[in-house]
Amino acid sequence: MQIRILKGTNQIGGVFTEISSKKAKIIIDFGDDLDGIKRLDNIDGLTKGNPTYDGVIITHNHQDHMGRIDDILDSIPVYMSDLSRKIYETVYCFSSSKGKIKKNTINIKNKQTFEIKDIKITPYVVDHSAYNSFMLLIESEGKKILHTGDFRNHGYKGVILEKTLKEIGKIDLLITDGTTFSREHTKSKTEEELVYDIAKKTKDYDQVLILMSTTNIDRVTTMQKVANKTGKTVIHDIVLSNILRLVTQKIPNALNSKDVGVFLPSSIYKKKDIEVYKEFILPFEKRIKETGKKLHGKFIMNIRVSMLKDIEKLKLKNKVLNNCCVIYSMWEEYKKEDYYKKFLDKMQKLGIKVFNLHVSGHADYTVYKRIIDITKPDAVIPIHTENKEKIKDYTNKAVILEDMEVFDL
Ligand SMILES: [Zn+2]
Ligand SMILES: [Zn+2]
Repeated sequence: MQIRILKGTNQIGGVFTEISSKKAKIIIDFGDDLDGIKRLDNIDGLTKGNPTYDGVIITHNHQDHMGRIDDILDSIPVYMSDLSRKIYETVYCFSSSKGKIKKNTINIKNKQTFEIKDIKITPYVVDHSAYNSFMLLIESEGKKILHTGDFRNHGYKGVILEKTLKEIGKIDLLITDGTTFSREHTKSKTEEELVYDIAKKTKDYDQVLILMSTTNIDRVTTMQKVANKTGKTVIHDIVLSNILRLVTQKIPNALNSKDVGVFLPSSIYKKKDIEVYKEFILPFEKRIKETGKKLHGKFIMNIRVSMLKDIEKLKLKNKVLNNCCVIYSMWEEYKKEDYYKKFLDKMQKLGIKVFNLHVSGHADYTVYKRIIDITKPDAVIPIHTENKEKIKDYTNKAVILEDMEVFDL
Protein backbone atom coordinates (compact mmCIF):
# COMPACT_ATOMS: atom_id res chain seq x y z
CA MET A 1 0.00 0.00 0.00
CA GLN A 2 1.02 3.60 -0.51
CA ILE A 3 0.32 6.50 1.82
CA ARG A 4 0.51 10.19 0.93
CA ILE A 5 -0.45 13.03 3.22
CA LEU A 6 -1.66 15.43 0.56
CA LYS A 7 -1.83 18.14 3.19
CA GLY A 8 -1.35 18.20 6.96
CA THR A 9 2.24 17.22 7.79
CA ASN A 10 2.89 20.81 8.94
CA GLN A 11 -0.49 22.15 9.96
CA ILE A 12 -3.44 21.55 12.25
CA GLY A 13 -6.72 21.19 10.36
CA GLY A 14 -7.39 20.79 6.64
CA VAL A 15 -5.61 17.42 6.60
CA PHE A 16 -6.07 15.11 3.60
CA THR A 17 -4.71 11.55 3.83
CA GLU A 18 -4.52 9.43 0.68
CA ILE A 19 -4.24 5.63 0.88
CA SER A 20 -3.79 3.51 -2.25
CA SER A 21 -3.91 -0.25 -2.65
CA LYS A 22 -3.49 -2.31 -5.83
CA LYS A 23 -7.13 -1.68 -6.78
CA ALA A 24 -8.39 1.33 -4.83
CA LYS A 25 -7.48 4.89 -3.90
CA ILE A 26 -9.23 6.61 -0.99
CA ILE A 27 -9.02 9.91 0.92
CA ILE A 28 -9.59 10.35 4.65
CA ASP A 29 -11.09 13.74 5.65
CA PHE A 30 -11.59 16.75 3.41
CA GLY A 31 -11.95 20.02 5.30
CA ASP A 32 -10.91 23.64 5.43
CA ASP A 33 -7.54 24.98 6.56
CA LEU A 34 -8.00 26.53 10.02
CA ASP A 35 -6.22 29.73 9.02
CA GLY A 36 -8.48 30.18 6.00
CA ILE A 37 -5.59 30.04 3.50
CA LYS A 38 -6.51 27.53 0.84
CA ARG A 39 -3.45 25.38 0.26
CA LEU A 40 -4.01 22.71 -2.38
CA ASP A 41 -7.22 24.20 -3.63
CA ASN A 42 -7.99 21.50 -6.20
CA ILE A 43 -6.97 17.87 -6.53
CA ASP A 44 -7.00 16.15 -9.91
CA GLY A 45 -9.39 13.23 -9.92
CA LEU A 46 -11.08 14.35 -6.69
CA THR A 47 -12.38 17.88 -7.22
CA LYS A 48 -11.70 18.29 -10.96
CA GLY A 49 -11.06 16.27 -14.10
CA ASN A 50 -11.97 12.60 -14.42
CA PRO A 51 -12.59 10.87 -11.09
CA THR A 52 -9.62 8.71 -10.00
CA TYR A 53 -10.57 8.24 -6.35
CA ASP A 54 -12.85 5.42 -5.13
CA GLY A 55 -14.15 7.08 -1.98
CA VAL A 56 -13.71 9.72 0.72
CA ILE A 57 -14.24 8.92 4.40
CA ILE A 58 -15.02 11.64 6.94
CA THR A 59 -13.93 10.91 10.54
CA HIS A 60 -16.03 13.64 12.22
CA ASN A 61 -18.04 16.79 11.61
CA HIS A 62 -15.53 19.54 12.43
CA GLN A 63 -15.15 22.07 9.64
CA ASP A 64 -11.43 21.26 9.22
CA HIS A 65 -12.31 17.61 8.44
CA MET A 66 -15.39 17.92 6.26
CA GLY A 67 -15.80 21.56 5.22
CA ARG A 68 -14.96 20.86 1.55
CA ILE A 69 -17.24 17.88 1.07
CA ASP A 70 -19.32 19.69 -1.58
CA ASP A 71 -16.22 20.20 -3.76
CA ILE A 72 -15.83 16.43 -4.31
CA LEU A 73 -16.79 15.22 -7.80
CA ASP A 74 -20.36 13.86 -7.97
CA SER A 75 -19.45 10.30 -8.90
CA ILE A 76 -17.06 9.77 -5.96
CA PRO A 77 -18.87 8.25 -2.94
CA VAL A 78 -18.44 9.95 0.43
CA TYR A 79 -18.79 7.91 3.62
CA MET A 80 -19.78 9.66 6.84
CA SER A 81 -22.08 9.11 9.80
CA ASP A 82 -25.68 10.33 9.18
CA LEU A 83 -25.81 11.62 12.75
CA SER A 84 -22.62 13.70 12.29
CA ARG A 85 -24.03 15.06 9.05
CA LYS A 86 -27.35 16.07 10.65
CA ILE A 87 -25.59 17.85 13.53
CA TYR A 88 -23.40 19.76 11.05
CA GLU A 89 -26.40 20.72 8.91
CA THR A 90 -28.42 21.85 11.92
CA VAL A 91 -25.69 24.30 12.92
CA TYR A 92 -25.35 25.64 9.39
CA CYS A 93 -29.10 26.00 8.84
CA PHE A 94 -29.01 28.68 11.53
CA SER A 95 -26.08 30.57 10.07
CA SER A 96 -26.34 32.54 6.86
CA SER A 97 -23.12 31.23 5.31
CA LYS A 98 -24.06 27.61 4.56
CA GLY A 99 -27.15 25.49 4.45
CA LYS A 100 -27.50 21.75 4.02
CA ILE A 101 -24.77 19.65 2.42
CA LYS A 102 -25.48 18.97 -1.26
CA LYS A 103 -23.26 15.92 -1.61
CA ASN A 104 -24.91 12.52 -0.98
CA THR A 105 -23.22 10.46 1.72
CA ILE A 106 -23.23 6.81 2.72
CA ASN A 107 -23.83 6.23 6.43
CA ILE A 108 -21.05 4.67 8.53
CA LYS A 109 -21.47 3.24 12.03
CA ASN A 110 -19.32 2.17 14.95
CA LYS A 111 -17.64 -1.20 14.29
CA GLN A 112 -19.51 -1.78 11.02
CA THR A 113 -16.89 -2.71 8.46
CA PHE A 114 -17.38 -1.62 4.86
CA GLU A 115 -15.33 -2.18 1.73
CA ILE A 116 -14.06 0.03 -1.04
CA LYS A 117 -12.76 -2.46 -3.64
CA ASP A 118 -9.84 -4.28 -1.91
CA ILE A 119 -9.72 -1.91 1.11
CA LYS A 120 -11.65 -2.83 4.29
CA ILE A 121 -12.54 0.05 6.64
CA THR A 122 -13.83 -0.24 10.21
CA PRO A 123 -14.83 2.92 12.12
CA TYR A 124 -14.45 2.92 15.92
CA VAL A 125 -16.10 5.60 18.07
CA VAL A 126 -13.47 7.72 19.78
CA ASP A 127 -13.47 10.45 22.43
CA HIS A 128 -13.18 13.96 20.91
CA SER A 129 -14.90 17.34 21.20
CA ALA A 130 -17.11 16.47 18.22
CA TYR A 131 -19.93 14.01 18.97
CA ASN A 132 -19.70 10.63 17.21
CA SER A 133 -16.06 10.92 16.04
CA PHE A 134 -14.33 7.88 14.56
CA MET A 135 -10.89 6.34 14.37
CA LEU A 136 -10.49 4.22 11.24
CA LEU A 137 -8.92 0.80 10.92
CA ILE A 138 -7.91 0.29 7.29
CA GLU A 139 -7.00 -3.20 6.07
CA SER A 140 -5.69 -4.28 2.69
CA GLU A 141 -3.01 -6.54 1.21
CA GLY A 142 -2.53 -8.17 4.63
CA LYS A 143 -1.59 -4.84 6.28
CA LYS A 144 -3.35 -2.85 9.00
CA ILE A 145 -3.35 0.93 9.27
CA LEU A 146 -4.91 2.86 12.14
CA HIS A 147 -5.86 6.47 11.34
CA THR A 148 -6.73 8.12 14.65
CA GLY A 149 -8.68 11.13 13.34
CA ASP A 150 -8.88 13.77 16.07
CA PHE A 151 -9.01 12.15 19.50
CA ARG A 152 -8.39 12.37 23.24
CA ASN A 153 -9.06 10.23 26.31
CA HIS A 154 -9.96 12.77 28.99
CA GLY A 155 -13.63 13.29 28.00
CA TYR A 156 -16.63 11.26 29.16
CA LYS A 157 -15.98 8.63 26.47
CA GLY A 158 -12.25 8.51 27.24
CA VAL A 159 -12.32 5.09 28.87
CA ILE A 160 -13.18 3.37 25.60
CA LEU A 161 -9.86 4.25 23.95
CA GLU A 162 -7.78 1.54 25.67
CA LYS A 163 -10.49 -1.05 25.10
CA THR A 164 -10.69 -0.17 21.40
CA LEU A 165 -6.93 -0.25 20.91
CA LYS A 166 -6.67 -3.64 22.60
CA GLU A 167 -9.45 -4.92 20.35
CA ILE A 168 -7.59 -3.66 17.27
CA GLY A 169 -4.27 -5.13 18.47
CA LYS A 170 -1.03 -5.06 16.49
CA ILE A 171 -0.99 -2.75 13.47
CA ASP A 172 1.57 -2.05 10.74
CA LEU A 173 1.16 1.71 10.50
CA LEU A 174 -0.21 4.38 12.83
CA ILE A 175 -1.27 7.72 11.36
CA THR A 176 -1.83 9.94 14.37
CA ASP A 177 -3.24 13.35 15.23
CA GLY A 178 -0.40 15.39 16.78
CA THR A 179 -2.25 18.60 17.64
CA THR A 180 -0.76 18.95 21.11
CA PHE A 181 2.87 18.20 20.06
CA SER A 182 3.66 21.93 20.19
CA ARG A 183 2.14 22.35 23.62
CA GLU A 184 3.79 21.93 27.02
CA HIS A 185 4.05 18.47 28.55
CA THR A 186 1.19 18.83 30.98
CA LYS A 187 -1.42 16.24 31.71
CA SER A 188 -4.83 17.46 30.59
CA LYS A 189 -7.62 17.83 33.11
CA THR A 190 -10.66 15.66 32.47
CA GLU A 191 -14.16 16.95 31.67
CA GLU A 192 -15.16 15.65 35.11
CA GLU A 193 -12.46 17.84 36.73
CA LEU A 194 -13.66 20.78 34.64
CA VAL A 195 -17.09 20.43 36.32
CA TYR A 196 -15.46 21.06 39.71
CA ASP A 197 -13.41 24.00 38.40
CA ILE A 198 -16.39 25.75 36.81
CA ALA A 199 -18.66 25.06 39.79
CA LYS A 200 -16.05 26.48 42.18
CA LYS A 201 -15.40 29.60 40.10
CA THR A 202 -19.08 30.36 39.51
CA LYS A 203 -20.69 29.47 42.83
CA ASP A 204 -21.11 33.12 43.87
CA TYR A 205 -22.57 34.22 40.52
CA ASP A 206 -26.28 34.00 39.72
CA GLN A 207 -26.02 33.98 35.93
CA VAL A 208 -23.33 31.93 34.23
CA LEU A 209 -22.84 32.15 30.46
CA ILE A 210 -20.64 29.47 28.87
CA LEU A 211 -18.94 30.57 25.66
CA MET A 212 -18.44 27.19 23.98
CA SER A 213 -18.75 25.23 20.75
CA THR A 214 -22.42 24.32 20.31
CA THR A 215 -21.46 20.89 19.00
CA ASN A 216 -19.25 19.99 21.98
CA ILE A 217 -21.70 17.58 23.62
CA ASP A 218 -19.31 16.66 26.45
CA ARG A 219 -19.30 20.34 27.44
CA VAL A 220 -23.12 20.32 27.51
CA THR A 221 -22.96 17.45 30.01
CA THR A 222 -20.38 19.43 32.00
CA MET A 223 -22.71 22.45 31.99
CA GLN A 224 -25.58 20.29 33.32
CA LYS A 225 -23.36 18.87 36.08
CA VAL A 226 -22.28 22.39 37.12
CA ALA A 227 -25.95 23.43 37.27
CA ASN A 228 -26.78 20.43 39.48
CA LYS A 229 -23.92 21.30 41.84
CA THR A 230 -24.66 25.02 42.08
CA GLY A 231 -28.48 24.95 42.03
CA LYS A 232 -29.02 26.71 38.71
CA THR A 233 -31.53 26.24 35.91
CA VAL A 234 -30.06 25.09 32.60
CA ILE A 235 -30.96 27.07 29.49
CA HIS A 236 -29.94 25.92 26.01
CA ASP A 237 -30.04 28.31 23.10
CA ILE A 238 -32.19 27.26 20.13
CA VAL A 239 -29.27 25.80 18.14
CA LEU A 240 -28.13 23.57 20.99
CA SER A 241 -31.76 22.56 21.73
CA ASN A 242 -32.03 21.29 18.16
CA ILE A 243 -28.70 19.44 18.27
CA LEU A 244 -29.81 17.65 21.44
CA ARG A 245 -32.84 16.30 19.55
CA LEU A 246 -30.38 14.29 17.47
CA VAL A 247 -27.93 13.12 20.12
CA THR A 248 -28.72 9.68 21.49
CA GLN A 249 -26.93 10.23 24.80
CA LYS A 250 -29.32 10.98 27.70
CA ILE A 251 -28.80 14.67 28.44
CA PRO A 252 -31.70 16.66 29.96
CA ASN A 253 -33.02 18.99 27.26
CA ALA A 254 -36.15 20.97 26.44
CA LEU A 255 -37.90 17.95 24.89
CA ASN A 256 -37.30 15.41 27.66
CA SER A 257 -37.24 17.64 30.76
CA LYS A 258 -39.47 20.42 32.06
CA ASP A 259 -36.52 21.96 33.88
CA VAL A 260 -34.50 22.97 30.81
CA GLY A 261 -35.22 26.32 29.16
CA VAL A 262 -34.74 27.44 25.54
CA PHE A 263 -33.37 30.84 24.53
CA LEU A 264 -33.98 32.27 21.06
CA PRO A 265 -31.18 34.68 20.07
CA SER A 266 -32.35 37.78 18.22
CA SER A 267 -30.11 37.11 15.21
CA ILE A 268 -31.99 33.86 14.61
CA TYR A 269 -35.41 35.33 15.35
CA LYS A 270 -34.87 37.94 12.65
CA LYS A 271 -34.10 35.26 10.11
CA LYS A 272 -37.41 35.02 8.28
CA ASP A 273 -36.77 31.68 6.64
CA ILE A 274 -40.06 29.85 7.00
CA GLU A 275 -38.50 26.40 6.54
CA VAL A 276 -35.99 27.02 9.31
CA TYR A 277 -38.81 28.34 11.50
CA LYS A 278 -41.02 25.30 10.97
CA GLU A 279 -38.29 22.73 11.38
CA PHE A 280 -36.22 24.21 14.18
CA ILE A 281 -38.10 26.91 16.09
CA LEU A 282 -41.80 25.97 16.13
CA PRO A 283 -41.32 22.79 18.25
CA PHE A 284 -39.78 24.94 21.01
CA GLU A 285 -42.06 27.99 20.87
CA LYS A 286 -43.94 27.27 24.10
CA ARG A 287 -40.73 26.59 25.99
CA ILE A 288 -39.11 29.76 24.65
CA LYS A 289 -41.97 31.83 26.16
CA GLU A 290 -41.73 30.03 29.53
CA THR A 291 -37.96 30.58 29.57
CA GLY A 292 -38.45 34.36 29.58
CA LYS A 293 -39.57 34.02 33.23
CA LYS A 294 -36.66 31.74 34.20
CA LEU A 295 -34.18 34.39 33.05
CA HIS A 296 -34.84 36.30 36.27
CA GLY A 297 -33.51 33.58 38.55
CA LYS A 298 -30.21 31.71 38.76
CA PHE A 299 -29.26 30.07 35.50
CA ILE A 300 -26.46 28.71 33.35
CA MET A 301 -26.65 29.09 29.56
CA ASN A 302 -24.49 28.27 26.53
CA ILE A 303 -23.61 31.29 24.37
CA ARG A 304 -21.79 32.09 21.11
CA VAL A 305 -20.07 35.31 20.07
CA SER A 306 -22.97 35.96 17.67
CA MET A 307 -25.17 36.46 20.77
CA LEU A 308 -23.38 39.68 21.76
CA LYS A 309 -26.45 41.87 21.14
CA ASP A 310 -28.63 39.53 23.22
CA ILE A 311 -26.23 39.70 26.14
CA GLU A 312 -26.17 43.48 25.90
CA LYS A 313 -29.96 43.58 25.90
CA LEU A 314 -30.29 41.16 28.83
CA LYS A 315 -27.82 43.24 30.81
CA LEU A 316 -28.81 46.82 29.97
CA LYS A 317 -32.50 46.66 29.03
CA ASN A 318 -33.96 43.60 30.73
CA LYS A 319 -31.60 43.93 33.70
CA VAL A 320 -31.44 40.17 34.28
CA LEU A 321 -27.64 39.85 34.29
CA ASN A 322 -27.04 41.61 37.60
CA ASN A 323 -24.54 39.08 38.98
CA CYS A 324 -23.18 37.47 35.86
CA CYS A 325 -19.95 35.90 34.63
CA VAL A 326 -18.81 34.39 31.34
CA ILE A 327 -16.79 31.17 31.17
CA TYR A 328 -14.58 31.16 28.06
CA SER A 329 -14.56 27.43 27.33
CA MET A 330 -12.89 27.14 23.93
CA TRP A 331 -9.48 26.90 22.31
CA GLU A 332 -7.29 29.86 23.41
CA GLU A 333 -6.23 30.60 19.77
CA TYR A 334 -9.75 31.74 18.78
CA LYS A 335 -9.24 34.80 20.97
CA LYS A 336 -6.89 36.18 18.32
CA GLU A 337 -9.80 36.48 15.89
CA ASP A 338 -11.51 39.85 15.60
CA TYR A 339 -15.03 38.80 16.54
CA TYR A 340 -13.80 37.07 19.70
CA LYS A 341 -11.73 40.13 20.61
CA LYS A 342 -14.75 42.35 20.06
CA PHE A 343 -16.90 40.08 22.20
CA LEU A 344 -14.44 39.93 25.09
CA ASP A 345 -13.87 43.72 24.99
CA LYS A 346 -17.61 44.24 25.19
CA MET A 347 -17.88 41.95 28.23
CA GLN A 348 -15.30 44.12 29.95
CA LYS A 349 -17.27 47.28 29.10
CA LEU A 350 -20.45 45.69 30.44
CA GLY A 351 -18.65 44.83 33.66
CA ILE A 352 -19.05 41.07 33.10
CA LYS A 353 -16.12 39.06 34.42
CA VAL A 354 -14.65 36.43 32.04
CA PHE A 355 -12.91 33.29 33.33
CA ASN A 356 -10.96 30.85 31.14
CA LEU A 357 -11.89 27.25 31.91
CA HIS A 358 -11.52 24.68 29.16
CA VAL A 359 -10.10 21.23 28.43
CA SER A 360 -8.75 20.40 24.98
CA GLY A 361 -10.46 18.19 22.42
CA HIS A 362 -7.07 16.59 21.70
CA ALA A 363 -4.93 13.99 23.46
CA ASP A 364 -2.22 15.08 25.86
CA TYR A 365 1.36 13.73 25.77
CA THR A 366 0.58 10.70 27.95
CA VAL A 367 -1.68 9.13 25.33
CA TYR A 368 0.67 8.77 22.32
CA LYS A 369 3.00 6.48 24.22
CA ARG A 370 0.06 4.39 25.35
CA ILE A 371 -1.33 3.99 21.81
CA ILE A 372 2.07 2.93 20.49
CA ASP A 373 2.60 0.49 23.40
CA ILE A 374 -0.72 -1.22 22.73
CA THR A 375 -0.79 -1.29 18.91
CA LYS A 376 2.97 -1.81 18.36
CA PRO A 377 3.10 -0.18 14.90
CA ASP A 378 6.16 -0.70 12.65
CA ALA A 379 5.81 2.88 11.42
CA VAL A 380 4.20 6.04 12.82
CA ILE A 381 3.26 9.07 10.70
CA PRO A 382 2.25 12.23 12.57
CA ILE A 383 -0.33 14.54 10.93
CA HIS A 384 -2.58 17.43 12.06
CA THR A 385 0.44 18.98 13.80
CA GLU A 386 2.77 21.97 13.71
CA ASN A 387 5.63 20.02 15.31
CA LYS A 388 5.86 16.58 13.64
CA GLU A 389 9.43 15.87 14.87
CA LYS A 390 8.01 15.58 18.39
CA ILE A 391 6.68 12.11 17.56
CA LYS A 392 10.28 10.90 18.06
CA ASP A 393 9.79 11.45 21.82
CA TYR A 394 7.33 8.57 21.78
CA THR A 395 8.71 6.08 19.25
CA ASN A 396 11.79 5.11 17.26
CA LYS A 397 9.52 4.10 14.36
CA ALA A 398 8.69 7.68 13.35
CA VAL A 399 8.24 8.40 9.65
CA ILE A 400 8.48 12.14 9.08
CA LEU A 401 6.85 13.08 5.80
CA GLU A 402 6.41 16.30 3.90
CA ASP A 403 3.10 17.03 2.16
CA MET A 404 2.72 14.94 -1.05
CA GLU A 405 5.65 12.62 -0.21
CA VAL A 406 4.89 8.91 -0.75
CA PHE A 407 5.41 6.26 1.94
CA ASP A 408 5.42 2.62 0.85
CA LEU A 409 4.00 0.17 3.35
ZN1 LIG B 1 -9.08 18.68 13.43
ZN1 LIG C 1 -11.88 17.77 15.42
